Amino acid sequence: MIYSINPYTGNKICSFTELTDAEIAQQINKADAVYNEWKNTSFKERSQLMLHAAKILLANKKEYASTISEEMGKPIKQAIAEVEKCAWVCDYYAENAKEFLLEKQIPTDAKKSYVSFESLGVILAVMPWNYPFWQVFRFAAPALMAGNAGVLKHASSVMQSANNIQQIFEDAGFPKGLFQNLVIGSSKVDSVIKNPKIRAVTLTGSKPAGSAVASTAAKEIKKSVLELGGNNAFIVLKDANIDQAVEIGVNARYQNTGQSCIAAKRLLLHEAIAEEFTEKYIVKVKQLKSGDPLNEKTYIGVLARESLAEDLEKQVEDSLKMGAHVLLGGKRKQAYYPPTILTDVTNEMPVFIEETFGPVIAIKTFKTIEEAIEISNTSEFGLGVSLFTENIDEALKLVPRFQEGAVFINELVKSDPRLPFGGIKQSGYGRELGSFGIKEFVNIKTVYVK
Ligand code: NAP
Repeated sequence: MIYSINPYTGNKICSFTELTDAEIAQQINKADAVYNEWKNTSFKERSQLMLHAAKILLANKKEYASTISEEMGKPIKQAIAEVEKCAWVCDYYAENAKEFLLEKQIPTDAKKSYVSFESLGVILAVMPWNYPFWQVFRFAAPALMAGNAGVLKHASSVMQSANNIQQIFEDAGFPKGLFQNLVIGSSKVDSVIKNPKIRAVTLTGSKPAGSAVASTAAKEIKKSVLELGGNNAFIVLKDANIDQAVEIGVNARYQNTGQSCIAAKRLLLHEAIAEEFTEKYIVKVKQLKSGDPLNEKTYIGVLARESLAEDLEKQVEDSLKMGAHVLLGGKRKQAYYPPTILTDVTNEMPVFIEETFGPVIAIKTFKTIEEAIEISNTSEFGLGVSLFTENIDEALKLVPRFQEGAVFINELVKSDPRLPFGGIKQSGYGRELGSFGIKEFVNIKTVYVK
């Protein structure tokens, strides 16, 4: 059985019976059969359905958001914003997919030579619980618009949300079977990837899960895209607008109760402004309201499972033993972990070298920008970095030196349907979103006419 458990109350919300191997095969066969019709549809038809999906999302956003909050503890206002963003990505690909996938003429010695972009087939999406809607829609909107079908293996803790997503696509008028939720645990993923009708796989999640999925995909010679963890630095130079950096820095770490791959986990402050920044930061973080995720005033909810709060507690306790100090927070209560600020952090501490998936920030100071870049790049991850400075020209010169998938200047690292999203190093490979994301799961076909 697979259970949805409310992490705030500890109550079981509902349970799901896992599919049998025969049922899984049946669902994949269905997806493949529907795909063979769907791939011949026009962009106009696909767009109409995708625009309808966006309307359904907006019309029912409160209902979907409540389920998200109940299943994984996200504050309701942030859950509503997540659903709205899903409508945006549906609209975006409805409007732009055709142009992104236009044939591209390439002059050669041929009479005519060009590249066309064709669908691949049924794509498996293995997704995490932290943004139960967004992670799925940012895969599904481009994949379906490109003419593919999708099967979802969602995190076990958010199966109601997963079913809601399948229902949205069906209600929007997409053919039944084109996008299906597979009610399975992670032990079944291996055999799903091996199913000959699955053409490729995308995973958003942790390093171990990514490694397991990519290994099987590689053995089967199937393409994979991996969106894994991050340990982003948030660097504040001495010429930065401190009040602006403080304001953005609070959201960068604490939104979604800190459970975001692109959150600012390491705060690197120039020593000349470190004291002023830290004092102002503490004041702002103290104002964040913790409480019931379903209360509209709540900004900090609970972690998605109590065990995640325990893991975070251990990372903090181990770092304190190594000499870190708590400036704020640091005491867990069941699945609730308060907004926490740690200082005197060194490169060897768990809160610095490991990804902390919750509301904990580790502060370190630096003397020169060289030092800041070096500290930032010590991470095994390479998802993104934020740099705060008033000297944009100098900041732009530094961009190539960051080992990251994204550099945001005077802004938190965020995903946007119009911009590619993804990492390097242990953060994974491939890109989602924008014109790059839709090309991950297409056959880039070369056509040559002599
Ligand atoms: P997770 O444990 O890796 O789970 C993600 C998904 O993978 C779930 O559906 C999970 O299923 C499945 N899974 C777990 N182990 C697997 C295995 N061995 N084989 C196949 N599938 C497996 O990650 P999480 O705890 O849900 O999410 C947190 C992690 O995701 C963090 O590291 C975070 O940084 C990363 N993340 C990355 C991005 C990004 O865009 N780069 C975005 C969000 C989160 P079950 O639930 O059934 O175990």
